[in-house]
Amino acid sequence: MKKIDFSPPDITNEEINEVVDTLKSGWLTTGPKTKKFEKNLAKFCGVEKAIGISSATMALEMVLRLFDIGEGDEVITTAYTYTASASAIAHVGAKPILVDVKKGEFNIDPQKIAEKINSKTKAIIPVDVAGIPVDYDEIYKAIEDKKELFMPKKDTMQETLGRILLLSDSAHSVGAKYKGKMIGSVADFSVFSFHAVKNINMAEGGAILFNNIGDIESAKIYRKLQMLSLHGQTKDAFSKNELGGWRYSIDFLGYKCNMTDLNASLGLIQLERYKNGLLQKRKTIFKRYIDNLKNESQFILPILENENMESSCHLFLLRIKSIDENKRDQIIDEMSKKGIATNVHYIPLPMHPAYKNLGYNIIDFPNTYEMYENEISLPIYTKLRLEEVDYICEVLSNILKEYPCVVKN
Ligand SMILES: *Cc1c(COP(=O)(O)O)cnc(C)c1O
Repeated sequence: MKKIDFSPPDITNEEINEVVDTLKSGWLTTGPKTKKFEKNLAKFCGVEKAIGISSATMALEMVLRLFDIGEGDEVITTAYTYTASASAIAHVGAKPILVDVKKGEFNIDPQKIAEKINSKTKAIIPVDVAGIPVDYDEIYKAIEDKKELFMPKKDTMQETLGRILLLSDSAHSVGAKYKGKMIGSVADFSVFSFHAVKNINMAEGGAILFNNIGDIESAKIYRKLQMLSLHGQTKDAFSKNELGGWRYSIDFLGYKCNMTDLNASLGLIQLERYKNGLLQKRKTIFKRYIDNLKNESQFILPILENENMESSCHLFLLRIKSIDENKRDQIIDEMSKKGIATNVHYIPLPMHPAYKNLGYNIIDFPNTYEMYENEISLPIYTKLRLEEVDYICEVLSNILKEYPCVVKN
């Protein structure tokens, strides 16, 4: 029996050689390779600055801390995401405000964001689910429309920005485009993940992308983020290592989530390969799924692009008409018996105990539940062969024929 994994890594000798080069270089943690990766990433996305962080989760937290967001503040995010988007909000002591997705879509509803904005709202964290950019213009409009409610803390970057911060969780959407602009350059701040299952794999890793904010230069923001992510220390280990550079100062009690050169060596190669073929490969696989499945009326297919956006094809979120959660789970089991690993993205946040304890109930997120109950994520990764895509589609179609759908009403 064929065995098809869900998202195995695509690592070549190039990555291996780069990692070995780092191991032999005598410098393992934040250093020249991290700096080079940051420059290459910023250039790829058309922004002034990128800073490497140990994960996207910590990257979100660092931006919230940069803006002094914490106790007594509210931050809006989507119910349809991985817990990281919301837990970073809780980690700084602020309250995560979950909102529903647009009907028939996986992305947050800008209209519902507008309804939740009040004088405590300090940031909005939308998620480009599966690599499809949210409607950034609509979210900026909601922020603009409610501008008079904004109450910034004195002498903070909140005050400099003068409105609610738009911090994009772009963990899925590196390489995607919104109205012709690269993701990373659209929101005030954007965060990427380079976790092993993401489009660019550094085992673990994240980054923050940004430009100037008002009259605060991006270089100054970079410096602040660098200190936040390294104990509030005025010098990183690499500059301390330079001749005569031993003296340092701890200016505030910061955190510890810097990127290492070991991870950055993976990123340097992965980013080049992503630009030169891996992203295109994802698109080819995505299209092959569409070609195979488009003539069967029981499927609701995800989109690759439209007049506003181009997806990064991080996930292939298929929906099957007229099935409920149980039926969907059965189909996943049958696929698994045939050796095919599938997944569900995501179990909505209000369905998890941690979020129920915060008072959330899935009943209040009808659009989110509707997207979740009949969703199956099919494997999409750069080593997946097109014949394997055909095989996955064939197995799925056969399962649906053998086990006629329990039509719910
Ligand atoms: C993977 C993921 C994250 C977290 O990324 P890490 O780098 O593992 O911290 C955040 N948000 C979303 C939507 C994700 O899928």
